[in-house]
Amino acid sequence: MIVLITTKVETFNNYINGEWQESVSQKKFYSVNPANTEDVVGVFQASNQTDVKLAIEAANEAFPEWAKTAPSKRAAILNKAASILEENAAQYAEELSREEGKHVSDAKNEVLRSAQTLRYYAVEGQSFTGETFPNDDPNMKVSTEREPLGVVSVITPWNFPISIAARKIAPALITGNTVVFKPSSDTPLIAVRLVEALQQAGIPKGVLNFVTGRASDVGDPLVTHPAVKAVTFTGSTAAGEDIHRKTPFTTRTQMELGGKNPLVVMDDADLDLAATLTVNGGFSLTGQACTGTSRVIVMKEVKEAYVQKLIEKTSALKIGNGFEEGVKIGPLANEKQLKNVLKYIEFGKEDGAELIYGGEHLSAGAYEKGFFVTPAIFTNVKPDHRIAQEEIFGPVIAVIEVDTYEEAIAIANDVDYGLSASIVTNNLKTANRFTKDIQAGTVKVNRTTTGNLINAPFGGMKQSSTATFRESGRVGLEFFTQVKTVYIGY
Ligand code: NAP
Repeated sequence: MIVLITTKVETFNNYINGEWQESVSQKKFYSVNPANTEDVVGVFQASNQTDVKLAIEAANEAFPEWAKTAPSKRAAILNKAASILEENAAQYAEELSREEGKHVSDAKNEVLRSAQTLRYYAVEGQSFTGETFPNDDPNMKVSTEREPLGVVSVITPWNFPISIAARKIAPALITGNTVVFKPSSDTPLIAVRLVEALQQAGIPKGVLNFVTGRASDVGDPLVTHPAVKAVTFTGSTAAGEDIHRKTPFTTRTQMELGGKNPLVVMDDADLDLAATLTVNGGFSLTGQACTGTSRVIVMKEVKEAYVQKLIEKTSALKIGNGFEEGVKIGPLANEKQLKNVLKYIEFGKEDGAELIYGGEHLSAGAYEKGFFVTPAIFTNVKPDHRIAQEEIFGPVIAVIEVDTYEEAIAIANDVDYGLSASIVTNNLKTANRFTKDIQAGTVKVNRTTTGNLINAPFGGMKQSSTATFRESGRVGLEFFTQVKTVYIGY
């Protein structure tokens, strides 16, 4: 893609060992607005392996002192950074919307949620304790202590570019680890803002390091360097598998990956609610949420009525750039995303599903310079169709008709992923059966497949996660600490 730079664009540096600095590569890349690719949001360092090694060495050197720093002092830094995010939320939201495409109100919510996450871990991290164990020796005390791991690599995607980073960096820092943070190359600016907030809040040099650049240039040392003790990654399953294969067996990994999330609509469901949940879960953020609804498994008796409501609600969604009032569907985040979504719309047609709404590439007028598609609804989808099996990560809904609850569960579970799932029903028994039968890390009843609380665990089953450590909530601290068992005889 050729980018024309028509206005002066700011250049942003890496942050290594307490200094904002250029990459040793002397190379740069642009972050562009997916609603208008002529709008360049910023120029960033196209770093190389030497930058990453310097960042890891700085983090390694800073670790012993940070591990000894009083938890209350670490917490004070997180709280101050949260205040900085809150004070600047309006500006950061505009920058995030320009860079990623989501509506500015969603972007503001994300910035504020990130501040809440910092505050949450500032509190929880100070009361994360070990246990004591009864034993038969009256002169011995046995207990566990939790210790930090060391240097943690944090690698994040573009779809929630500040809130996902915050939910990894905050628990890592509060438990005494040092961090090397590499953001998505599509959303480096909001990542700079998070690092700046922590810097201004007083994070000591070397404790938090920040390196931008393509995964192909900087990815390997982030996951293979012997000083890196843990890698926390959110992104595609393919990249997660690659990282998992490369990490030494002594390096702890946490992978939050793709999804193919079902919404089951029972014959007793409130169909208006079911259609609203589908639109909100499947099309908000332009379908680019890992927990987004991508399959609707609906009982035959109510399918027609449900689909009518779904079309009505979908046709009311305004498409446009994230700064326009009332816009519900922004652009896809980048050109690769656009191509992928259009490819899957073709796959749906080729495999014999019926495209009953949308699925067009908008490329004229106000949409000319952006990555816009209309939300797509397919019916007559069979469980083995590619649009019913593979993650699309865009505004495409596959409606699959079934006769029974058992058939719905079998189809819902017959995919490689297991991130999130929901059922729409008024039957308490069916709702409870569903929470047991479904293979998903998050299960909901009469709610969207999207959305999760800061204070509750989050993670997937099957290929949606490494399933070893959950993120979010109090358990989110576990990944960043190791347990030492202490026996004291006296
Ligand atoms: P991605 O292409 O996998 O990239 C994610 C991050 O990893 C980026 O910073 C990327 O850098 C880096 N990366 C890619 N390959 C790497 C490798 N081999 N080694 C080291 N780093 C590597 O994913 P994305 O397109 O940004 O995000 C969309 C995906 O994220 C979807 O599959 C979605 O389901 C998933 N996701 C999952 C969750 C969850 O919690 N389960 C949440 C959000 C998103 P570059 O940008 O430089 O390529």
